[in-house]
Amino acid sequence: MEFAFAPADMAFRDEVRTFLAEHLTEELKRGAALSPTVFVEPEIGQKWNAILNAKGWLAYQWPKEHGGTGWTPIQRYIFEKECALAGAPPLTVLGLKLVAPVMYTFGTPDQKAYYLPRILSGEDYWCQGFSEPGSGSDLASLRCKAERDGDVYRINGSKMWTTHAHHANKIFVLARTSNGARPQAGISFLLMDMHQPGISVRPILTLAGDHEVNQVFFDNAEARVADRIGEEGDGWGIAKFLLENERGGSCHAPELLADLDAVEVAARGEPGSDGRPLAESRDWKRRVARIRLQVEALELIELRILDNIAKGRPPGPQTSLCKLIKSDVRQAVDMLAMDMYGLAGLQLDPARPFYAHNAPPPIHSDGAQVAAARYLNSRAWTIFGGTNEVQSGIIAKTVLGL
Ligand SMILES: Cc1cc2nc3c(=O)[nH]c(=O)nc-3n(C[C@H](O)[C@H](O)[C@H](O)COP(=O)(O)OP(=O)(O)OC[C@H]3O[C@@H](n4cnc5c(N)ncnc54)[C@H](O)[C@@H]3O)c2cc1C
Repeated sequence: MEFAFAPADMAFRDEVRTFLAEHLTEELKRGAALSPTVFVEPEIGQKWNAILNAKGWLAYQWPKEHGGTGWTPIQRYIFEKECALAGAPPLTVLGLKLVAPVMYTFGTPDQKAYYLPRILSGEDYWCQGFSEPGSGSDLASLRCKAERDGDVYRINGSKMWTTHAHHANKIFVLARTSNGARPQAGISFLLMDMHQPGISVRPILTLAGDHEVNQVFFDNAEARVADRIGEEGDGWGIAKFLLENERGGSCHAPELLADLDAVEVAARGEPGSDGRPLAESRDWKRRVARIRLQVEALELIELRILDNIAKGRPPGPQTSLCKLIKSDVRQAVDMLAMDMYGLAGLQLDPARPFYAHNAPPPIHSDGAQVAAARYLNSRAWTIFGGTNEVQSGIIAKTVLGL
């Protein structure tokens, strides 16, 4: 396997760097750096999406015929890495990277023509209605019900942990359209308007006090039959396709490398226990090196997956390995920042967002202000998109053959 970048890829990297230097504003970088949550607020994320869309780079993972760039997997990786190193906000994934691939793979021509451009323009902001109270890891046990009534389905039930449902105007939902012998049968994949009388959203505050997730209630809410993706009862297969994209659709190593770099730079200005810069302490260096090795190993696995994709092979169960490593390393990097800032890292002001003009001024530094909230929020990494235990189970079965 050859990991050295070709001259054309290096030229592409320079093109991306030039673009980022010209278009990634200080406001967006600050918004990203001071967002403690997994997703950035839409006011930051959507601004960055619009800039990328104007350049034609927003849907860089989509096929060209649907508005994609036609980049090779390696070019996509370079793009993600350069964006992360430059401090760009992470992209809004729910529309762009989760439901869009479902639409262009399984959708009707009308669904593709209507919905895909609206994701690119930012007109539609999506949320994901899969998990329910009591149905998370065991997703197939879901009970939210969709009953056919002429041209519409009537939906009753609730969805749990729905990220950014309070911002979204659309939701993609797994709902039970029939009760078969196997729980996986009888689940359908529906697209719905959030802004209708039968839907209400209840905020859930995370450990750090952030409002990122919600419970969504459906009380005779409507979904058009024309907005069902695939056949009635085929939703489980579509959900599995989406979940594989959720776990492996983006490369994780670039963002972790960028965050680790930032912690290392900050450690040059923080005192260690002997009064000298923390960055010079042998224990600190050893700890950072151990995490960096894990991230570099992750980067190699991700490049290997890209190599597979470039050769027309599916990403496979290695995506579970990536999700597992990423979650652990994400938490280790956030722990590193907490330890580095010491007492200053313990501040947890409830005012949000931290980047707003009326937010309280940080004690010590911006990095210290966001450290505790980030540490607390990143506990969720080992839970969403399939918990660490569930990923380990997949690896045990499909990779190790246990
Ligand atoms: C911040 C956050 C954002 C989220 N956003 C969304 C969203 O936008 N949309 C959405 O649909 N969902 C979302 N989720 C839900 C997420 O996917 C579920 O929380 C996750 O799948 C786990 O389900 P659960 O919470 O019901 O826990 P459970 O499934 O009840 O798990 C409880 C514990 O049991 C363990 N366990 C369960 N089954 C097994 C098994 N077979 N083997 C070993 N151990 C097992 C788990 O690892 C866990 O430790 C989000 C969750 C979080 C925390």
